[in-house]
Amino acid sequence: MDRPKTFLQALGCVIYPNRCAFCDELIPISKYVCERCEAELPHVIGNICRKCGCERKYCKCGKGLEFDRAVAPLYYAEPFNRGLLKFKKNREDWRAEVFAIYMAGTATEAYAGERIDFAVRVPDHKSRIDDNVRGPRLGAGKSPNATLAKAFCAEYGVELKEGVLRYYSDDSKSQRSRNFNERHANVFGMFDIVDDGCELFGSNVLLIDDVFTTGSTLSECAKMLKLHGAESVFCVTLFTTKQEKRKK
Ligand SMILES: [Zn+2]
Ligand SMILES: [Zn+2]
Repeated sequence: MDRPKTFLQALGCVIYPNRCAFCDELIPISKYVCERCEAELPHVIGNICRKCGCERKYCKCGKGLEFDRAVAPLYYAEPFNRGLLKFKKNREDWRAEVFAIYMAGTATEAYAGERIDFAVRVPDHKSRIDDNVRGPRLGAGKSPNATLAKAFCAEYGVELKEGVLRYYSDDSKSQRSRNFNERHANVFGMFDIVDDGCELFGSNVLLIDDVFTTGSTLSECAKMLKLHGAESVFCVTLFTTKQEKRKK
């Protein structure tokens, strides 16, 4: 994949050498990813489960996943995950633009027949939000989730609604001050819906995260979105994990 080269990019390259967005190898300024990644990225291809988006031999359905569908362009594997780890640890937004191209390509193909109204993202953990309040410091202060979701939505062409989901623990409201629906929502677990959920009613929502591991995070978020009126929840992540089914 080639990238347009501008004077500023060329200048930046002198100070910050250009690296592969996935594996961190040094590459020419005109590229996004290295030759090895172009050839060997572990794409999710083959006989793919329509619901969880993995090859059938790695299918993660059957655990009561609450979302309608999930897709990811790639499997999580060394060394291709290094770029994501660095993206999350440091403030390297340029990686998100590359990740977004892969995610949007897969989502566009998979969800071609679906109506998508808007996108939301898995919220940041409280510690990350606190970093935002305190202001930027090295390795923190910026939400990687937000950056990735924003880049994806720009590439895919869908509106991103921020602040729809939050960690339940982020809320200082006592259980007593909650209305029935809010209390009911809380028994399910970690996530909560911020507003009254009106805009969710009857909507088809695209839910964005970086990695689909067991699916419990996406499932919990989807459960909350549906409890507040969403009709369908379609997920997209950059990576999904390969988990061989256990033999009984
Ligand atoms: Zn690479
Ligand atoms: Zn499946």
